[in-house]
Amino acid sequence: MRIDIVTIFPEFFSVLDVSLLGKARQSGLIDLGVHDLRDFTIDRHRTVDDTPYGGGAGMVMRAEPWGQALDGILDASLERGVFDPLIVFPSPAGDVFTQAMAQQLSSEKQIVFGCGRYEGIDQRVVEYAETRTRVKLVSLGDYVLNGGEVATMAMIEAIGRLIPGVVGNPASLVEESHSSGLLEYPAYTKPGNWRGLDVPPVLLSGNHGAIARWRLEQQLERTRRVRPELLPPELR
Ligand code: SAM
Repeated sequence: MRIDIVTIFPEFFSVLDVSLLGKARQSGLIDLGVHDLRDFTIDRHRTVDDTPYGGGAGMVMRAEPWGQALDGILDASLERGVFDPLIVFPSPAGDVFTQAMAQQLSSEKQIVFGCGRYEGIDQRVVEYAETRTRVKLVSLGDYVLNGGEVATMAMIEAIGRLIPGVVGNPASLVEESHSSGLLEYPAYTKPGNWRGLDVPPVLLSGNHGAIARWRLEQQLERTRRVRPELLPPELR
């Protein structure tokens, strides 16, 4: 998958050099381009924001550098043979990001993340982008961040690990929270007793049927207690 990020803080994404996503980049499963929005300004001060029309607090990101940045990325996509990359603008006013959305987005050929700052991006950038390709506004949750960078990182991590080959053992993706519809059961490793706390005996029994039943009970109990709305009404 090709991932492009437009941001005023390109250094933020240096974490994508490490861990599983770093390896995925080295092996070519993920091809990353990070673009500094200020490189697409034409004034001496590399200005990316201005006061809002209609008044009010804060600044708004100017359309002009965004237009230049997106044009450059989309033209390069065409040259690569990708005709309809998905542009994702992280926004508290977008559709809420879920595991199901991550799964869906993991099969995209190319995603372009446009990280807003200040009071957000001039709305005409979204309207213009929609004339060129597919566009989605996505929210990480019902709270407000300072910028789209953290939301983009979270989405790239959730989407990236679903790209075949990124996580070494694909079986570990199957029983995870939010993929089976239930939260995952608790996990334990050695030693069997730690600071007076025992591992549940069933996990040491070697009885695979009993272990599977215990895990399912734990999943149901946890989901009922923490996130009952995830369960069908008859299981709540
Ligand atoms: N004035 C905007 C509002 O009230 O909806 C909030 C702007 S916020 C301070 C700046 C940027 O952070 C947004 O343009 C967006 O890119 C990002 N952002 C903030 N909260 C977010 C969230 N919950 N999910 C995704 N992105 C978010």
